[in-house]
Amino acid sequence: MTDFSHLVHQANLIGGAWVGAESGAVFDVTNPATGDVIARVPNAGEVETRRAIDAAHAAFPAYAALPLNDRVAMMRRLHQAILDNQEALAWMMTAEQGKPLVEARAEIASSAAYVLWFAEEARRIYGEIIPSPVKGRRLMTTRHPVGVVAAITPWNFPSSMLARKIGPALAAGCTVVVKPASATPLSALVWGQLAEQAGFPPGVVNVLTGSARAIGGEIMANPKVRKITFTGSTDIGKDLIRAAAGTVKRVSMELGGNAPFMVFDDADLDRAVTGALFAKFRNAGQTCVCTNRLYVQSGIYDRFTEAFAARVAAMKVAPGHEAGAEQGPMIDEAAIAKMEDLLADALSKGGQLVTGGGRHARGGLFFQPTVVKNATTDMRMNSEEIFGPVAAIYRFDTEDEVVALANDTEYGLAAYAYTQDMARMFRLQDQLGYGLLGINEVAIVTPEAPFGGIKESGVGREGGRQGIEDFLDLKYTCIGGL
Ligand code: ADP
Repeated sequence: MTDFSHLVHQANLIGGAWVGAESGAVFDVTNPATGDVIARVPNAGEVETRRAIDAAHAAFPAYAALPLNDRVAMMRRLHQAILDNQEALAWMMTAEQGKPLVEARAEIASSAAYVLWFAEEARRIYGEIIPSPVKGRRLMTTRHPVGVVAAITPWNFPSSMLARKIGPALAAGCTVVVKPASATPLSALVWGQLAEQAGFPPGVVNVLTGSARAIGGEIMANPKVRKITFTGSTDIGKDLIRAAAGTVKRVSMELGGNAPFMVFDDADLDRAVTGALFAKFRNAGQTCVCTNRLYVQSGIYDRFTEAFAARVAAMKVAPGHEAGAEQGPMIDEAAIAKMEDLLADALSKGGQLVTGGGRHARGGLFFQPTVVKNATTDMRMNSEEIFGPVAAIYRFDTEDEVVALANDTEYGLAAYAYTQDMARMFRLQDQLGYGLLGINEVAIVTPEAPFGGIKESGVGREGGRQGIEDFLDLKYTCIGGL
């Protein structure tokens, strides 16, 4: 077993104490590239969750009342602590999640950038003075932290998903209880350590690992939790929205996607191919903004498919720690089985394999980067989130046709288009039903801009000046008799 003790406590952080589950139960954390057990962390449940919520609730009034300068200083120290440990944190993330080290490094840098952004935004939690319609009154709004925030996060971005939740929560003056995915608990536990180092008082940041149902159940039922912020599947998100009704918690949801990637005849071919490669294969295709449907116009279809498939076939599939790795392992066996099912379905319906097509010769959880052409709307991968390294290329003729195809989904997270026609860019902006739109660009996520979906892809925004709003309650005050 790799010794991670120098990097992270293999314990939960509750009210400033690093503790195990009351029952002593633990679960294994494995490296998806090797199958090796790399750590054991507590298998916490309802009791530990209640304790963490109580700790966050008790810490809230004093934390919210701290001078703004103190809060900002802690956040700046947290930002620096993340950067100071970037290499070790990236290495640990690759060990538990599998992504290539270059991607893990970039994710850690992104986590730090979100913390810094929200440290800056903490200074701009403005209220308003509203002109009074009558004499002798002063009307105003002020904004206040919502209280205890619970954050539930997935395994595909085990650090930055937390940054986008913990960052605004701490900046707003909220305290947090964090529950990461069980596949990637280490990258979350370390947030507890870094927050301690940065000087956040005990109870402000609490981190629990263990049963999603038990921890999630208590979080959702407990009236002390005033907000739930979740990134994960649409199905679980819907359950959490329903459960939030019981105590009318605020909800922020970053859910599934079914991203279209449109390449028009007038596109810069090289740029489109490079963009498609990143948008499809980053993190082995396991991101909610990954391209799910590649739509290519007839006039450029063959050239694009050939150039794209050549680049895909040349990708280096290897453990994320290996130099030059471009695609690591998938997260688990179920993810591999899903690729196999979706591919079998597509090929039985007329899809043609251009490259890849199954498990990789490296064995284990490695899957070949795969391209299928002649994809059609009756294939399961047209409507289901692939969440893996399989690219499906569809053909289209007109802009109206592709816009209709792109919008024909209950999801609305990210969409991409490659075209040189400026008028078309604005038509796409108006007509595509998506919260995020990349035109001639795919690496569009940045702390300065609001990230989030519409339709069944979610509610709320993370990042941008909007990213802190969901962590604040608005109060209106009327002073009379002036
Ligand atoms: P993914 O498998 O893509 O990460 P999930 O929606 O299954 O998506 O999981 C996202 C997060 O939600 C994980 O931390 C998981 O443990 C958690 N989770 C799963 N089921 C529940 C549930 N019933 N209540 C609360 N959290 C849950």
